[in-house]
Amino acid sequence: MDVKAVQSYLSSLNLPQYRQKQILKNYFSGHYATFLDMTDLPKDLRLDLEKNFSLLSVKESKIIIDTDTQKALLTLKDNLAIESVLMDYDDWLTACLSSQVGCPLNCAFCATGKMGFMRNLTAEEIVDQILYWKNILSNPNKPPFLKGGARRAEDLKRLVFMGMGEPFLNWDNLLVTLKIIKENLNIGSRKISISTAGIIPKIYEFADLNTEINLAISLHAPDQATRQKIMPIAREYHFDDLIKSLNYYTAHTRRQLFLEYALIDGINDSELHLNKLITLLKSNRLFYLNLIPLNPVRGGLNSSSKINLFSDTFNKNHLNYSLRRSLGQSTNSACGQLIVGN
Ligand code: SAH
Repeated sequence: MDVKAVQSYLSSLNLPQYRQKQILKNYFSGHYATFLDMTDLPKDLRLDLEKNFSLLSVKESKIIIDTDTQKALLTLKDNLAIESVLMDYDDWLTACLSSQVGCPLNCAFCATGKMGFMRNLTAEEIVDQILYWKNILSNPNKPPFLKGGARRAEDLKRLVFMGMGEPFLNWDNLLVTLKIIKENLNIGSRKISISTAGIIPKIYEFADLNTEINLAISLHAPDQATRQKIMPIAREYHFDDLIKSLNYYTAHTRRQLFLEYALIDGINDSELHLNKLITLLKSNRLFYLNLIPLNPVRGGLNSSSKINLFSDTFNKNHLNYSLRRSLGQSTNSACGQLIVGN
């Protein structure tokens, strides 16, 4: 819902003061799919709002259910479409949000880049992905998760900006989105993670915001030569400058910083890569490595068989790392597999 537009429309009507609050509360609860469902409002007002606005700016076109993920194809008002994923971690649910339609970065290992870049999502469209999932969870007629038993809108406790697009290239709308979440949804900053391919100026700006939101960097290489082979953005932002910005981030925030490293056969999985990665991790104790088995996408890159060698060596060196648990591979719902159109 376009909160500002609805608010100013409501202000123009001669309504009791509490109505605005009530409508906002209803919207952010996720319990309603349309204004018409808000039976605690007078019928005329419901009809009027439904005629002039839509409660959700994203419309479900398709939903694909896997054992521990649900992926929704969501159509926007201009008929472009995005994907959004709900992940079941047993004790809580996490929504993986898209920030752009497509992505301009075209990383070799990621499906989203292959569809090109169409446009930034508005804050409304990003927030509405969360409310779409909350609504699914509150509707008894929608397909439930296959495991985990009863799930309610309130079980959606974490958010990751790891869907389609580069959140730091949609900076202004990202900040508005984070503000809306903070003010209206009961999800604390520590339960939110943003992943960036490394837009350096925004890493500095993000550090200066001093939020408790987690930051993850799609590193995928321990040096410039390897990185620019698989991530075109590395030509614009050099590896050494990236590391400098990451050191600024940890020094300034004193927070752990997550480095994502998908292990790709023959690309970033040699002993030399491993040694460079260890040196990098030892250089800053706030760097925390997420080692990721590459999820298959079209384009010829394969998952590396050296994942155990890498993790054993990290263990021996007492390094901070974890192996990312990958959800949703079989329905193309996993990291790097989101694509619309082909
Ligand atoms: N543009 C942002 C966010 C989207 S990518 C970024 O680059 O970080 C979300 C996560 O999926 C990132 O960690 C990204 O590196 C990872 N990813 C992309 N393709 C992948 C693949 N094929 N297998 C595993 N992880 C992948």
